[in-house]
Amino acid sequence: MAALQEYGMGAGASRLVTGNHPLYTQLEKELAEYKNTEDALVFGSGFLANLGVITALLPPDEMILADRLIHASLVDAIRLSGVKFQRFRHNDSDHLRQLLAKQKQRCWIITESVFSMDGDRAPLQEMLNLAEEFDAMLVIDDAHGVGVVEHCLNGATKKIIWIGTFSKAAGSYGGYVCATRDHIAKMVNHSRSLIYTTALPPAVIAANLAALRIIRTQPELTALPLEKAQLFNPEAQSAIVPIIIGEEREALKAAEMLEEEGFLAIPIRPPTVPVGSSRLRLAFSALHEAKDIARLAAVIRKIRP
Ligand SMILES: *Cc1c(COP(=O)(O)O)cnc(C)c1O
Repeated sequence: MAALQEYGMGAGASRLVTGNHPLYTQLEKELAEYKNTEDALVFGSGFLANLGVITALLPPDEMILADRLIHASLVDAIRLSGVKFQRFRHNDSDHLRQLLAKQKQRCWIITESVFSMDGDRAPLQEMLNLAEEFDAMLVIDDAHGVGVVEHCLNGATKKIIWIGTFSKAAGSYGGYVCATRDHIAKMVNHSRSLIYTTALPPAVIAANLAALRIIRTQPELTALPLEKAQLFNPEAQSAIVPIIIGEEREALKAAEMLEEEGFLAIPIRPPTVPVGSSRLRLAFSALHEAKDIARLAAVIRKIRP
């Protein structure tokens, strides 16, 4: 509110023209500290950050190895970059190793920390070890990890490029990249999704800064979404828990039944997920109460005994 009153709503222009508000510098400094990288860069959204990283950083003669289930924005960025790519089986580091061993060029491994439609986590430490062994780079889309799941990775942080968004657990809007100073400088000069778009409104940057400070200082709060998800299913790995239904029509029907009981559970259908794996995607938050979670489980048991 204070930032809105002081600076007004719009940013006025691209960051490279007059939109580069001083709040950006503070946010990027704290983001780099948070992810323990040399530098950080804030984009308009997570989608724009993915575009900016992959189209600006990846040399056309190198190779991308990407998880089968990466987000649509990463797939579009890869296509736009024109860099050759192959997919490895979902979260399968053995398959990734086989593909790495076959390449003559340098490789860029692309994955998500927490998969957006399955809620499962990538074996990031194994992938970082592979990146070190094969002199590859590891690009991690942490959209659903930030503010919910912390990753402790041992190894060369210069091998990792973190991408994230303020639009999920942080409850705001905007994307970011944490990487080496050289990589960030290259993106400032070459990421068209940074250069040719208007900067974020200053009040949004201030909100992102406030959210990041909560994430960094209140681990008991950021642990809650996963704890709540594990009340529902002890095997949950993140705040996202899918209930796989199968047919599209069945998933729609299940969502309607839940809505009648007062639960909003969005049915996810192809092409977002593979044909035959339509699902209800449950997302737990710090504010969900144990008694409501128990009632949700009872209702779902009735729908899917
Ligand atoms: C939501 C999401 C994005 C896009 O982020 P926005 O800030 O909404 O543009 C990118 N990657 C993944 C994995 C996401 O879930």
